[in-house]
Amino acid sequence: MYDILIKGGMYPDFEANRMVKGNVAVAGGKIVALGEVDGEAKKVIDASGRVVSPGFIDIHMHEESFINEGKEYVISEMMLQMGVTTCMGGNCGSARQSLQMFQDVVEELGGAPTNYMMQAGYNSARTAMGIGRYDAASQEQIAELAEQMKADIDNGAWGISFGLEYDPGITFEEVMQVLNAQPQEDLFVSMHYRDDSTGAPDAISEMIRIANESGKKFQISHLSSCSAMGQMADALKEINEAVAKNPKLDYDTYPYNAFSTGIGTAVFDDGCFEKWGKSYENILMTSGKYKNQFCTKEMFEEIRRDDPKQYVVAFVMNEDEIADAIANPSCGMVASDGIVREKSGHPRAAGTFPRVLGKYVREDKVISLIDALRKMTLAPAKRLELSDKGRIAVGCDADITVFNPDTIMDGATFDSLYIKPVGIDAVIVNGTLALEDSEIVNDRAGVFIPGPFVK
Ligand SMILES: [Zn+2]
Repeated sequence: MYDILIKGGMYPDFEANRMVKGNVAVAGGKIVALGEVDGEAKKVIDASGRVVSPGFIDIHMHEESFINEGKEYVISEMMLQMGVTTCMGGNCGSARQSLQMFQDVVEELGGAPTNYMMQAGYNSARTAMGIGRYDAASQEQIAELAEQMKADIDNGAWGISFGLEYDPGITFEEVMQVLNAQPQEDLFVSMHYRDDSTGAPDAISEMIRIANESGKKFQISHLSSCSAMGQMADALKEINEAVAKNPKLDYDTYPYNAFSTGIGTAVFDDGCFEKWGKSYENILMTSGKYKNQFCTKEMFEEIRRDDPKQYVVAFVMNEDEIADAIANPSCGMVASDGIVREKSGHPRAAGTFPRVLGKYVREDKVISLIDALRKMTLAPAKRLELSDKGRIAVGCDADITVFNPDTIMDGATFDSLYIKPVGIDAVIVNGTLALEDSEIVNDRAGVFIPGPFVK
């Protein structure tokens, strides 16, 4: 008897590059049979007219903050509701608590809504060491930071993330020293660039240089918020040429024309509005006393001075360039960059994957269904060498998202983060039905997955 039998849907066969009609049988956490399979099952899901996709893998999101916001899941519930079954936090240089604490809490809570992976956040470690954001680190400090990163990788981090824009004091040489101290040739490294818009060409060249000289797997983070201000065509040309020579380079991107970050960060240093060709009224407060209001100069300066940790949304990106980053055939994956603080944040945390499938695949037709699915499942799985994930195939993990391609769409907006996506029928995590008809039915089916270099 099967645990779950999904009947009559279409699933992607990435090798043959086509959608295939067939049933999918799940038992013991794995996909055990495909195609004509039938028989008894504890749970039968009617998937006629539906896509039976590998669960979406969000290679770039920002995990729960158990330190500041208590031991509860917020963002990973949103992840599950939008069809994500595995996600990776610790991005942009920022780990919101120690790896050990994160792992302990997931264990204490008896699982998580989705599978979780973490990177070591370089900037967090650097800041904890007392190094100012504009300051250079000493040789001793760099050596100590490299050791700390190494310890996190030994303890289960998947790689190292850097946020150069957040700590402009981090030099190219500092990054190279830290990476050269890591023995794993295939270590995953992700980087939030040094600068955006007019600064994007230099920032991208710097990242490509780091990728090539370090030899590590290198992920350019959320490309659209770096280059969708007029630089995307050049950025994609440079990246595609570099990828042709160095296949260990890739990027991720999210489907919104606004980014979100702390108002006190260096992103909003003097000159940012001139650089973007935008102004204070393009900045939306997402929390605090001015929640859901667009800024005036006075509001912006007040909050940046008095409450710099407040998150804001900056509407400074161009729609057609976002589509180009999503549709790029040579490389690139879809990822949310989702971040939720004090239960507020950018809607990408709750809508990224349904939005790509609803808007960019169905409505705007900038990318085919199977290519979009590949960028959400197989591409990140290959990247992370999760060989049992990212495909609907016998023997693979039963991480599965069943959705209606005719209706799927994101729901969350910049002022209502909690509107769920539509069109997600079922999500299965590790062989357990975790979501049915958009409702979470099991929020503990996910586990913490330690990285490949854990000792
Ligand atoms: Zn970032």
